[in-house]
Amino acid sequence: MDAAVKVATVKLLINGEFVESKTTEWRDVVNPATQQVLARVPFATQDEINAAVAAAKEAFKTWRKTPIGARARIFLKLQQLIRENMAELAATLTAEQGKTLPDAEGDVFRGLEVVEHASAIGNLQLGELANNVANGVDTYTVLQPLGVCAGITPFNFPAMIPLWMFPMAIATGNTFVLKPSEQDPMVTMRLCELALEAGVPPGVLNVIHGGEMAVNAICDHPDIKAISFVGSTKVGTHVYNRASLNGKRVQCMMGAKNHAIILPDANKEQTLNAIAGASFGAAGQRCMALPVVVLVGEAQKWLPDLVAKAKTLKVSGGTEKGTDVGPVISCAALSRIEGLIERGIADGATLELDGRKPNVPGYEKGNFVGPTIFSGVKPGMAIYDQEIFGPVLSVVAAKDLDEAIEFINANPNGNGTAVFTQSGAAARKFQEEIDVGQVGINVPVPVPVPLFSFSGSRASKLGDLGPYGKQVILFYTQTKTVTARWFDDSTAGQGVNTTISLK
Ligand code: NAD
Repeated sequence: MDAAVKVATVKLLINGEFVESKTTEWRDVVNPATQQVLARVPFATQDEINAAVAAAKEAFKTWRKTPIGARARIFLKLQQLIRENMAELAATLTAEQGKTLPDAEGDVFRGLEVVEHASAIGNLQLGELANNVANGVDTYTVLQPLGVCAGITPFNFPAMIPLWMFPMAIATGNTFVLKPSEQDPMVTMRLCELALEAGVPPGVLNVIHGGEMAVNAICDHPDIKAISFVGSTKVGTHVYNRASLNGKRVQCMMGAKNHAIILPDANKEQTLNAIAGASFGAAGQRCMALPVVVLVGEAQKWLPDLVAKAKTLKVSGGTEKGTDVGPVISCAALSRIEGLIERGIADGATLELDGRKPNVPGYEKGNFVGPTIFSGVKPGMAIYDQEIFGPVLSVVAAKDLDEAIEFINANPNGNGTAVFTQSGAAARKFQEEIDVGQVGINVPVPVPVPLFSFSGSRASKLGDLGPYGKQVILFYTQTKTVTARWFDDSTAGQGVNTTISLK
């Protein structure tokens, strides 16, 4: 980077102030379509991380007692501010992440839904009461906040995933320290500015930046009670183990290799459109993308149509009208994806469509790879065994639904899956027998709305509870069970009870 060009710095958020880091370690935030440096992000020092946690710890003393209505109204205001700023948020997201403008709006919108959900916190955080569990005795539960919680987020949804985390954590009465992806922190920071504008008090939401050191500091900090992580399986497993050993509550939503089954009775046009969108949209950088398709029986004849459909997709900068596939996040990601395509060929898969080095007028420096399709893919090949996280689709053949289900269940990941069929019986069999946490029936990217919880399973998830929906209330709270008896002066003494039974 030309040192003479003054580039904006991304700030830390500590105790309600957006502050410049004193670190000496910085990294460029780069537009993946053009390589333009948009900003510089600091890797916060240990002192800065400690200051963020200390601010959160102090703020918790009052925030935990803030009335439900006051908490809820902040999220009502925040959802309004997000709506009002949607175009700007999407533009920032596209610039730093690369996805198309409509998809960037989708990213913000899916997070906005969680903010709306957080504004219903009064209903969500209700306890339970059983009257007269013994003579004059009632038992009830209260769901109390834990204290300082933390979130660590990936690059691929820089609006949605931070919004999975801090609104629900704060709405339940916790305070929060967020560590966004260092690759695209700008839209996340804008959302935090809006959160403060909506009324989140100083210290309740704090942001630090960084990489491995910052994440390890979060895992080790004695004042952090719970961590929500979203990212790769390798890092998530490390976070889970390290933070769990430190006695923290941890949930890790991690890597994926999602499969779709296409049965020959499916609606062909709708199915091919759905597969192309889910496999190549967001340049394949969704944890719920569809990088593997299992064509069953006669549906195997649809491969040429799938290739033809993929060829119609426009590869370009995310701000260009009509773009279907934007750039991948970084030069490093691009060379990893191109390397895996090389390995697919070397491992003996058939390259049906080669998206490498596409011609993208006006974006010659961008990190582009177009839709790529392999057939004849088998377990043991790197393109099958690894999460490619690019627009590369592997096509597999199966003779029937049983064989296809068995194939998917043999894959260690369990994030998402889908079946395409017009048979209710086949769909129900799939739903019952598939060992994957999120199931689509003629729905290619079955990410649940926040009335439900994100529910990836097996190797895609560590920890019991999902990041939003009802489950997250339990994640961010401690259930306290109260058993109470009140005497009035007229109650006769009951004598000494040396048993454990309540009378
Ligand atoms: P990543 O694991 O590289 O980064 C995630 C976070 O961990 C970032 O904040 C990063 O700064 C930090 N980090 C990176 N390397 C680290 C290290 N060595 N030690 C400690 N912390 C480290 O993930 P990514 O590339 O940003 O995101 C893509 C991955 O996230 C994919 O595997 C994708 O499947 C997964 N993902 C999963 C879900 C889900 O819900 N299951 C959702 C989105 C993304």
